[in-house]
Amino acid sequence: MKPLIVANWKMNPQSLVEAKQLFNSVKRGIKNIKNVEIVICPPFIYLSNIQYLKSNIKLGAQDCFWSERGAFTGEISPSMLKNFNCKYVIIGHSERRKLGETDEMINKKIKAAISAKLKPILCIGETEKERRKGKTLQVLKNQIKKDLNHLISQSLNHLIIAYEPLWAIGTGNPCEPKEAKKVYLFLRKILKKIPILYGGSANSENATSYIQEAKFQGLLVGGASLNAQEFIKVVKNIDLFLKFDKMV
Ligand code: PEP
Repeated sequence: MKPLIVANWKMNPQSLVEAKQLFNSVKRGIKNIKNVEIVICPPFIYLSNIQYLKSNIKLGAQDCFWSERGAFTGEISPSMLKNFNCKYVIIGHSERRKLGETDEMINKKIKAAISAKLKPILCIGETEKERRKGKTLQVLKNQIKKDLNHLISQSLNHLIIAYEPLWAIGTGNPCEPKEAKKVYLFLRKILKKIPILYGGSANSENATSYIQEAKFQGLLVGGASLNAQEFIKVVKNIDLFLKFDKMV
């Protein structure tokens, strides 16, 4: 599998015109990229238009519901996303967990996404307080246990995990690659072959180190993905590293 670079636009930008501009700028900037898979997760409301802006960028959503249809006001089902050409869906982002999403809800969403043939990107991560108390690995293990409860092993082939320490998200204070690597090695033992991404204040300056040093299979990028030139640099730096790595 190629390393995955996922852009999480969150609740941005404010208009469809800007969303198309951002998407098209990234599309132009990465057209010759061969070594990485690029995924953009815009707000739901832009998916129907963006799906027609032909490119080698894959589409993802930022959440989904666990039922296929019915009386669930405001929710979007996995098969609706599939119909809009989504391939990926972020599930259990810490910003959603903060709004009350529980591990039980996340577990149902993951199962529903996989049934609809979407690839869930499950976000896990510890708070600053948990980290200070030395509980990081225990917290991650508990989240994985609950979020993946009763998932059959075949389903795990479609899953991606994003390690996103909460204290690093949107703070400009990334988890240093050395620390992230320790977490990666712990997760790798539990998760066997599941790809693991890093997320939390990743940018064009530190992006490569998470792949090269810490050995992650990709990145989940929030803030830096809203600036087309910065996001293109993230992608190009990783692509360049991979090209060079193949040569030596
Ligand atoms: C995120 O929200 O998933 C994220 C990684 O954000 P940022 O890159 O802004 O820290």
